[in-house]
Amino acid sequence: MSDALVARPAPRCMLCGGEGRLLYDGLRDRLFSAPGEWSLRLCTDRGCGLMWLDPMPEEADIHKAYASYYTHVEAPARGGAMARLFAAAKRGYLANQFGYGEGVSIAERLAGLLPWLYPGRPAELDFSVMWLARGARGRLLDVGAGSGWLVAQMQALGWRAEGLDFDPAAVERARARARGLTMHCGALAEQRFPDASFDAIAMSHSIEHVHDPVAWLAEAYRILCPGGRLALATPNSASMLHRRFREHWFALDPPRHLQLFNRAALDTALRRAGFTRQRQFTSVRDADGAYLGSRAIRRRGRFDMTAPRPALARFVARMVQLREVARSARDPDAGEDLVALAVK
Ligand SMILES: [Zn+2]
Repeated sequence: MSDALVARPAPRCMLCGGEGRLLYDGLRDRLFSAPGEWSLRLCTDRGCGLMWLDPMPEEADIHKAYASYYTHVEAPARGGAMARLFAAAKRGYLANQFGYGEGVSIAERLAGLLPWLYPGRPAELDFSVMWLARGARGRLLDVGAGSGWLVAQMQALGWRAEGLDFDPAAVERARARARGLTMHCGALAEQRFPDASFDAIAMSHSIEHVHDPVAWLAEAYRILCPGGRLALATPNSASMLHRRFREHWFALDPPRHLQLFNRAALDTALRRAGFTRQRQFTSVRDADGAYLGSRAIRRRGRFDMTAPRPALARFVARMVQLREVARSARDPDAGEDLVALAVK
């Protein structure tokens, strides 16, 4: 069997059928060295703005791009007094901001003010619950759950949380990592969940990985209860760091990111799937990580996500994130993550 990914030409936009203009050419996998060379096209239709891979890897072959994906690697656990302080600040913040106050002490609520001193930290904590408040609590499906971190986190906060991933290795890891975690394996439509099964659906950095995002969102719409919530995050193709690093931008991630959205393209996809009530904003979460990745790709053509990050590099990256915080105040499209919160 060949290691090469079978791919087909994809000259047209899947959202509007518009023609694609060649944006970048000769892109290779910069993270995990999957074989192949890829182009990215940008829809030329005014008001669309979708970007996509051309050629497009075939669905049956895409698993080859995930052979050594990061969801297969365990992150080292931190300990000590700093870790305890971070944990207390997180509990307090989530109680203050999202209502997860059960068992949270006054001291922890005060510690929950500390993240506001640290640029980018509130965005990371908002992301850690996918902006889902306690009031919406019920049955939750995390679509594209990877290693299951969000499922475990939301279960701990009282949700009946389940995960789904199409990567068997990721599902296996998630199950091994936390006993009692409910993880489904395969495509979303394959699961045949009954109508109105879930109170909330999270899609954290997964829509850019699927071949038919509109059908996928429509399936999410079908299995949500009326009034149920969709919380979605995806790389923002209009972000400050994409504008700065162009073809070296970390989040292009060929050939795993099949398409990249801006606000207008995501809005079209959501509406077509049935979501008429939604709001979008961008978030500076992981602007520091995206900066380090993009810088390494520009310098060396690749980035090792598991390599240790020297203190100076981390500091510089936090300064870049701070700049993105400031930029976002006058340019709401500047954040690295595009977030959509929709209600059925
Ligand atoms: Zn288009």
